[in-house]
Amino acid sequence: QADLYRNVKHLPAITADGTQIKLLANISSADDMDMVFDNSGEGVGLFRTEMLFMDRDTFPDEEEQFEFYKKAVISAAGYPVTIRTIDIGGDKHLPYFNLPAELNPFLGYRAIRISLDQEALFLLQLKAILRAAAFGEVSIMFPMISNIKEIRDAKAILEKAKKELIAAGTAFDANIKVGIMVEIPSAAITADILAKEVDFFSIGTNDLCQYTLAVDRMNEKINHLYDPFNPGVLRLIHNVIEQGRLHNIHVGMCGEMASDSLATLLLLGMGLQEFSMSAASIPTIKNSIINTNIARAKQICADVMKMESSESITAYLKETTL
Ligand code: PEP
Ligand code: MG
Repeated sequence: QADLYRNVKHLPAITADGTQIKLLANISSADDMDMVFDNSGEGVGLFRTEMLFMDRDTFPDEEEQFEFYKKAVISAAGYPVTIRTIDIGGDKHLPYFNLPAELNPFLGYRAIRISLDQEALFLLQLKAILRAAAFGEVSIMFPMISNIKEIRDAKAILEKAKKELIAAGTAFDANIKVGIMVEIPSAAITADILAKEVDFFSIGTNDLCQYTLAVDRMNEKINHLYDPFNPGVLRLIHNVIEQGRLHNIHVGMCGEMASDSLATLLLLGMGLQEFSMSAASIPTIKNSIINTNIARAKQICADVMKMESSESITAYLKETTL
């Protein structure tokens, strides 16, 4: 592992036949940026903002949020940072925010659903992100999108945030790019429709797996069923990447699958060009990329997409790619 790290650290993430791949990191605060650069990450594909909201007694105001995002943007030193709007609910609760007790929290009041319902809070976060975006290359990303209306509604509130900043004479990035997490099956299936509304997709395999397979991602009793190599999950991922290509928008992956070296060639073969993961995994994935070529990855993808079971797919990938 130490050798691998030293060998690939200074090499670009380019396949043997010359395709450049972006290797980005998932972070939760500016403090994580050292680790990102130590592992040769080229920016942040997912900045989870929940940390700022946890372990405290009240909602952070616009100023505090602005400082928190700005710090990360400045630490990224010109590299891209994709900031995700708040994704609370599900397993993440805030002591000062009275979330309803729910029978099915993962199917309930969470993420963009809360943001669209609590417009004043959403507006604060959007303004803080827009202002931080003046200090670097920032994109904004909405979690848990299930239909086109949510995107349009979120974008309308983003426009409102811009108008308020203009009225106040505050500096911000008016051309900020807007994308969505594709982590709900309906979004993956209708990627062709949603692609027209956004600048980019980021595939969240953690939730996409959970919802596609109806397997609670936190429940150990059934974790053998939680399987990104299930052909149903793979078809969804393939569709999202393909529709992104057809509609000329950028597609990345920020779920755990992006850091699974068993999946790397398959994902490259599907056409994925951006992988975002915990920084420590970057050297391993970079090593896989450097040692393959796209023609081979495409063949592997074609073979896998014809297979019927996760068992045959993973056995084949272990044999041919590891
Ligand atoms: C995902 O669902 O894959 C994801 C990256 O988001 P989170 O793990 O924060 O739900
Ligand atoms: Mg998720």
